[in-house]
Amino acid sequence: MEPIRFRPPLYEQRYEFVKTYINTHKPKKVADLGCSECSLLHKLTFWDCIEELVGVDIDEDILKRKGYTLSPLPIYYLEPLERSLTVTLYHGSVSEKDPALLGFDLITCIELIEHLETEDLEKFQDVLFGFMAPNAAVISTPNVEFNVLLSENPRFRHPDHKFEWNRKEFQSWALNISRQYNYTVEFTGVGQAEPESKDVGYCSQIGIFRKNYTESEASMNVKKSCRSVYKRVFHVVYPSIQEEKYLRKVVLRIALSHAERMKTNFLHNLFPEDQEEKNSMVDNEKEPCVVSGWFSSLKSPAETEESVGKPPFLEGDAVHVPLETLFAIPKVKELCGSLEVLQNMMTGEVILSSNGSAIVYPLHVENDLDSDMSDA
Ligand code: SAM
Repeated sequence: MEPIRFRPPLYEQRYEFVKTYINTHKPKKVADLGCSECSLLHKLTFWDCIEELVGVDIDEDILKRKGYTLSPLPIYYLEPLERSLTVTLYHGSVSEKDPALLGFDLITCIELIEHLETEDLEKFQDVLFGFMAPNAAVISTPNVEFNVLLSENPRFRHPDHKFEWNRKEFQSWALNISRQYNYTVEFTGVGQAEPESKDVGYCSQIGIFRKNYTESEASMNVKKSCRSVYKRVFHVVYPSIQEEKYLRKVVLRIALSHAERMKTNFLHNLFPEDQEEKNSMVDNEKEPCVVSGWFSSLKSPAETEESVGKPPFLEGDAVHVPLETLFAIPKVKELCGSLEVLQNMMTGEVILSSNGSAIVYPLHVENDLDSDMSDA
């Protein structure tokens, strides 16, 4: 018998299912129970709507070995996320209650329940639906009916499985729980057999549970006061412009690169003999930007500087670039909200005019640089 090969692989199809659910429902707080090697969590770090990701597994070693895969990409320190994002891994059992898992929009349990002994499964259902009580839960588990298409001697698919349910068993478990904890459930799955084979359902059966009520604050407070039992083994806060220090870095990077460019162009116009050098700089400006993401979608100074605000001007022996002009850059305006905030961010980073309305670039620094260059 030719074993079925799923394309994409079945585990990928389960992750795709979760991603599609997330795209539609945009949960902010997502937890994955039985997260194992953190593969699903890793994919979810790239999802724009998610601000908090939590993984729980009883296997501490695997969390410690794989936690690093959830660290922010180095590029995020140059180009921080627009949203905030924290990722935390806990070592613990899903049959135990811990307040760290309260208040989630979505909890996924992908191929987890079949690893639980009957006693733990009973505790788990109370922990998940009674205590954690997420707005939604996605539970996937093998459908034993499909096993005839996987092997001539259909047994459990994995030696650690404590049970494998047929569709009726899974659905009656899920419907009972939904009634008991006031959820509604919908059934689907991933991994389909060829159309000509007999109807055995999906290879992985999935229940999508949605909470029918809003929990009272009083009930949440009682739960929050529960003793913590999970052990935190990994925690990271992603660089994000929601944090003042990263917001400031981003604003300064955008505004100062524009200001530098405006000053340089102003000086080239002032000293037309440098026209040749200017042309080569303009050519350089046409180089494509290699950074990806929202930062790279910003318009170049060449595209914006002529169109908005007051131009740079000479006062004394310094070029002045008005902050008002920099504030007119749409991204700067969006990030700062007011000219005053931009001014505060600039303070201490550059020389400002006495009334704080412009960045001051003294000309003699330019001359020093020029002579340094010609020496070299
Ligand atoms: N969800 C993972 C995925 O889709 O890639 C795979 C899950 S793996 C088949 C089952 C995981 O459940 C294992 O990592 C195991 O350590 C974990 N597990 C088993 N019993 C558990 C329990 N009581 N509490 C938490 N995790 C448990």
